[in-house]
Amino acid sequence: MMPDEMARPLIRGRGEEGGSRRLQAPASELCSPVIGILGTGDFSRSLARRLVASGYQVVVGSRNPKFSAALFPEEAELMSQMEATSKADVVFVAVFPEHHATLVELRPTLAGKTLVDVSNGLKIKRDTLSNAEQLAELFPESSVVKGFNTVSAWTLQMGPQDGSRQIFLCGDDSRAKCSVMQLCRRLGFVPVDRGLLASSLEIENLPLYLFPSWRIPVICTLSLFAFFYAYNFLRDVLRPYVVAGKNVFYKMPIETVNVTLPAVSLVMLSLVYLPGLCAALLQLWWGTKYNRFPGWLDRWLTSRKQMGLCSFWCAALHAVYSLCLPMRKSARFQLLIAARQVKEGPVWVEEEVWRMELYVSAGIMALGLLSLLAVTSLPSVANTINWREFTFIQSTLGYCALSMATLHTLLFGWDRAFDPARYPFLLPPTFVLVLVLPMAVLLGRLALLVPCVARRLRMIRRGWEKSRHVRFAPQEECCRNGLEEFSNV
Ligand code: NAP
Repeated sequence: MMPDEMARPLIRGRGEEGGSRRLQAPASELCSPVIGILGTGDFSRSLARRLVASGYQVVVGSRNPKFSAALFPEEAELMSQMEATSKADVVFVAVFPEHHATLVELRPTLAGKTLVDVSNGLKIKRDTLSNAEQLAELFPESSVVKGFNTVSAWTLQMGPQDGSRQIFLCGDDSRAKCSVMQLCRRLGFVPVDRGLLASSLEIENLPLYLFPSWRIPVICTLSLFAFFYAYNFLRDVLRPYVVAGKNVFYKMPIETVNVTLPAVSLVMLSLVYLPGLCAALLQLWWGTKYNRFPGWLDRWLTSRKQMGLCSFWCAALHAVYSLCLPMRKSARFQLLIAARQVKEGPVWVEEEVWRMELYVSAGIMALGLLSLLAVTSLPSVANTINWREFTFIQSTLGYCALSMATLHTLLFGWDRAFDPARYPFLLPPTFVLVLVLPMAVLLGRLALLVPCVARRLRMIRRGWEKSRHVRFAPQEECCRNGLEEFSNV
């Protein structure tokens, strides 16, 4: 910012210091377009403040200008809609789309001018005309630009604090779009050109999506949690009560949850790596990489980051729950009962000690690796590392995390998987159920590392096709790290 711009006042309230205080715009800004805003609601007020603060001359068109004048900065002029549209070069339509039709009488004054449609819909729309396209039909002689609908009135008022706030724009008239993009930059936002007005429906839908990429991973996590919680409750809480009248319902809030969380975490982590294996198997089966994967596999592959983060979240909760286990009153009572029951005899069981030491250590290592994966999945961190580094972390270290978490579970089970007493009513312990998927994924991965399989897959990934009989000799240097090659799926 130039020093003279720094000295320029920002927003001042109407009536402060008495008299009119028009902005002393620098000479370079005198040729700035006059910006009109139709409507005097929340969005209009915030936009007017931001425009005034950026040195624009602002005129606001209202059905009742005197009524809302006190709410606007002094530098913005309030007038009738007709007056405002005749004075302005670019007009923001800050009116709900249901009321766009009431503005048709302004059509002659708006002819040849740029109209910015900031409206949002109430629900996600498909295969219909967008608000902006409908506005363009109402005002055929104006150039309609869609934009600013993804920023809230609050953000506009505060300004883009971190200087990276994007504004998506589209419009059929490139000159009009350019002038709005310029205005965006001057307000401190980053304009993103999304093409012709036909893209406006997508821009209008943007603020209405509710974590679309998280839906499947969250549903998977919750479903797995419900399944394992019900299984653990049935096996460890309800069964002892029904069979032996033993009341262990106190386990429900902490112990049962703490057995469920690692199960969900490990299965979700396996689900991160399973689609890569499926894709590799399909490519080997087809003998080409140019066939499209089925839709479900495509969606699964694109949800891996969110699935990994869900797995990390469950693992982190499991760690916190485990740390809190000794704090419980029930744990203290159990310790006292155990101490009373110990008469003369060994209290130090070497095997149990080793099992616990190794089990905890493997768990901590798995959580550490998962944390690393979670941190590198953040866009700001991912942008600072190159593709090979990213692949190494997400694939090689990811498989290390899966192996460590599997080892953690195996150590927890120790030899108890072979004890028939652990299978009441043929219900296997949770750790046995949980191990099926990660073991299958790890074995599948090992199978893909067998040299003849790895070589064929590498050739397919580099464009070789079975049906075309293309002679293909893979370069030696690309055979160095099979793990990294596979992860490109
Ligand atoms: P609002 O507070 O309800 O204001 C709407 C304004 O429209 C009224 O103040 C009114 O001003 C004017 N208007 C003109 N003709 C009208 C009519 N026939 N009936 C009713 N009002 C009429 O709404 P807003 O929150 O500012 O939102 C305005 C537009 O911005 C909407 O399309 C919305 O989707 C979009 N938007 C808002 C936000 C936000 O954070 N608020 C964010 C993004 C986009 P006069 O009475 O002075 O004429």
